[in-house]
Order: sequence, then structure tokens, then C-alpha cells
Amino acid sequence: MCVGPLKKICHWGPLSALAMIKIITLMTIHCSRQWWPPQDSVPAAASFLLFFILSGLTLFHFISAIFEGPGYLTLKWIPEKATDIQYLQYCIVCQGYKAPRSHHCRKCNRCVMKMDHHCPWINTCVGHYNHGHFTAFLASAVGGCCVSFVILISWVATVLSLKPLPFPPPAVYTLILVVFSIGLSIGVVLAVGMLLYFQILAIVRNRTEIEDWILEKSRYRRNDTDAKYIHPYSKGWRFNVSQVFTWDFTPVGDGITWPIIDGCDQYTLTREQLAQKLNKRKRARIYRIVKAASGSKFPIGHGCGVFFHPLCTDEPRIKLDVDDIVIVTRWKKYAFYIGYLDKKNRKKEKMGNRNV
Ligand SMILES: [Zn+2]
Ligand SMILES: [Zn+2]
Repeated sequence: MCVGPLKKICHWGPLSALAMIKIITLMTIHCSRQWWPPQDSVPAAASFLLFFILSGLTLFHFISAIFEGPGYLTLKWIPEKATDIQYLQYCIVCQGYKAPRSHHCRKCNRCVMKMDHHCPWINTCVGHYNHGHFTAFLASAVGGCCVSFVILISWVATVLSLKPLPFPPPAVYTLILVVFSIGLSIGVVLAVGMLLYFQILAIVRNRTEIEDWILEKSRYRRNDTDAKYIHPYSKGWRFNVSQVFTWDFTPVGDGITWPIIDGCDQYTLTREQLAQKLNKRKRARIYRIVKAASGSKFPIGHGCGVFFHPLCTDEPRIKLDVDDIVIVTRWKKYAFYIGYLDKKNRKKEKMGNRNV
């Protein structure tokens, strides 16, 4: 059983990531020493060193992103000026207000400062404090895997070339491990590379994934009488980058108050969020359930239409009984999003299969 700090690592995400880092590193070092021994020439030594540094940085930033964490808002947090609570949303779980840019993460079960997303690979959220480490981890992993791909492919090409080998013939399992590592490095370059691209965009624009979504919704919500919502945090790309990347990777600011552009204030974003929430409530409809739903992610028994149109989201599915009263806030052909009214009258955004 894992206790203390180890608890953060003892999860399939970090363990798989560490296993991948280890296998790619070991195989690349092995192949590099055989195919292009670092003691033979300066370029060989330089490429070996480059890979070694990138691999070390990947591990360092990965561990830092996990242990630094995103930064959680204090439980029962309230703003300094009591009158400001009118601009903020309340978190029932943390029993406090959500500071601007904070969101509640169901997996971490806390409100996270400048939450971007919950990442299973680091088993925590990406937020204010670990945004820099996380992005540097992605960048070093992609860089390291590019170097490793070149070395591993060259080693395999030499082995399969049918010419006399400059090193002892490898065992079959070594060859399998090297081919497996090539597959892993290609996967990392493609998947992690894509994630890296989005993280760089988020930092350059000073706009998290969640704030992208808020901005998107603001375009639909606004009508002619409303003032246009302007995202208040982007003060130019140089400034935005300098907020996240400092020499020791400690971000600028306390994660609660933010530098803002002219014409906006600390609560421009949260006022927009409240307006969107109000809009959602106006759209909401009350339904009485006439057929029970299992709450399964892959429901059988509700017909082929429901079964073959699963929703690509990790929001919890809800078990519904006949005569339950639910508030539906959004709906699709085969599912709806509900603010469920339970016995204690607590409202929670959940999701049910559409069968009423
Ligand atoms: Zn919370
Ligand atoms: Zn989280």
C-alpha cells in the first residue's frame, strides 16, 4: 500500500509514464552505445549527451509537475472584500467561493487555481503552479523521443542490413524491446506533441482549455444588448509567457488575483460565467422520469440508438428511478445533461441517458 508522497505516484497514469520513460531511455542508451559509441567522435558524444539531458529533464519536470501540484484554493475560501462574493460562484464541496480562474476538479475533489485540465498521466490537475513544469515535461519528452527515434531506427537498420555487425548480434528479446520502444517514441511524438501544441497556445494566449470553452459559449450567449466579452488576461505573448516560465519555474502571482488588460477588472471572467450559468438555468426544463436508467457508461436495454451513441466525456452518468424529478440543462438526441434534484435538494450537474 502506498502512503504519504508515494500515493501521488501509485496510480496507473504516473506508473505507466515512468515505465515508458525508463524503457525508451534504457533502449536508446543501449543502441546508442553499440551503433554510435559516444567515445568514438564528438558528434556521437554530443548526441548521446543531448539524449541524456532530454531524458533527465523529462523525468525532472514530470516529477515536479506531480509534486508541485496545480495549487488548490484554500477550503472555505472567501474574497478579501465581502461584497465581491456577488461576482463569484460557490463550490458546495469545498464550501467556499471559487476565485477567478479556479474550477472544481471532481478527480482531485478540490478547487484548482487556474485549472487547465485533469491529467491522468500525472494523476493531478494542470493548473497555476505546475503549468510550466508540465509544459516543459511535454517538450522534453517530445525532444527526447525524436532523438531516440533516430538512434533506435538506425540501430535496427544496421542489424537488418545483413552486413557484418560492428557489435555482437542482439538477442531476439532485445530486438523486440527496441521495436517496441520505436513504437512508443512515435506514439509520444504524435500524441504528446499535439498536447504540447495546445499547452503552448494556452500559455501564449494566457487562456486555459476551460477558458477557451467559456469564450466559445460567450459568443452564443451574447445578444445585441450585451457588451462583448473580452478575455481579460492576455497582455501580449511575451508577457503571457513570462507569467508561467520563470528561471525556477515558479509562476508569477498568487493564483487568485491576476494582471488584467485595460477595460476589464478582476471579475470580468466570473461575471461572464455567472451570466452563462443564469442562461443555462433559463433554458432548463423539469422532467419526471418514466423509465429507469442504469447509469452505466455503456447502457444496454435502452435500444441500439443509445448504446451506439456513447458520449465522449468522463462526466458521471447517473442512475435514475421512475418518478425522479430532474432538471435538464442541455440535451442531445440520445442523452441529456441534468442538474439532478436529489433528496437534500442539492443540485449537481450530472448526465443521464435520454429515456423519458
Ligand atoms: Zn471545490
Ligand atoms: Zn484534478
